[in-house]
Amino acid sequence: MVPELERLIQAHQNIVFFGGAGVSTESGIPDFRSVDGLYHQKFKYPPETMLSHTFYEQHTAEFFDFYRQKLIVHGAKPNAAHLRLAKLEREGKLKAVVTQNIDGLHQAAGSKTVYELHGSTLRNYCTRCGKFYPVSFIEEAGGKGDGVPRCTDCGGIVKPDVVLYEEGLDEATIEGAVSAIRRADMLIVGGTSLAVYPAAGLIRYFRGDDLVVINKQHTPADGMATLLVNKPIGQALSETEGEGGAICR
Ligand code: ZN
Repeated sequence: MVPELERLIQAHQNIVFFGGAGVSTESGIPDFRSVDGLYHQKFKYPPETMLSHTFYEQHTAEFFDFYRQKLIVHGAKPNAAHLRLAKLEREGKLKAVVTQNIDGLHQAAGSKTVYELHGSTLRNYCTRCGKFYPVSFIEEAGGKGDGVPRCTDCGGIVKPDVVLYEEGLDEATIEGAVSAIRRADMLIVGGTSLAVYPAAGLIRYFRGDDLVVINKQHTPADGMATLLVNKPIGQALSETEGEGGAICR
């Protein structure tokens, strides 16, 4: 808990949360961009290549192999940050969550208005007929043939509704996120170093009075923030006691 943050939350009625990978790492979901020693033994290309639209088109089987190993997560549960944000929405204080994560954990925690800038692994559609498939379908295809998930109705490839490198973000999602950020009187940015564009550029639409940044590293938004919180996001957003760590400007 951060008393200065709680004070700001009490003082505002139109809060928007903008979050990134750091929100999910506390649920045990590793950032797929993190490349360790084992990575090089397993994969021939960097993650940005393997998750590009070109790679998906040209090396479809390898794409799904990587996708299943690095992007689909098992048994992850919402953490204290997800739960608090959902609670703030129920209380009428928080109007939207804008996230760069693709794991669906905000909805699992109970959040309703969630703009998933990079899509969701939980939604998958046939590229030919549009039929919906759950994530389990993509996983199960791993044990069959070349591992490429194919529609049971028409044989088309079933593609995750996840924004790949080289692909544009969904327009309606962007519009919803921009509109929520523009109307917000308080913006909480958490668990993101604001390095991934165009998503990170959205915070420039914020016109409200208090910007709070909760992150373990510095971000380009720190200079605009009224409050910087340098502690894990679950701890920062929890209502229970914990040690401090906020810098009030
Ligand atoms: Zn189909």
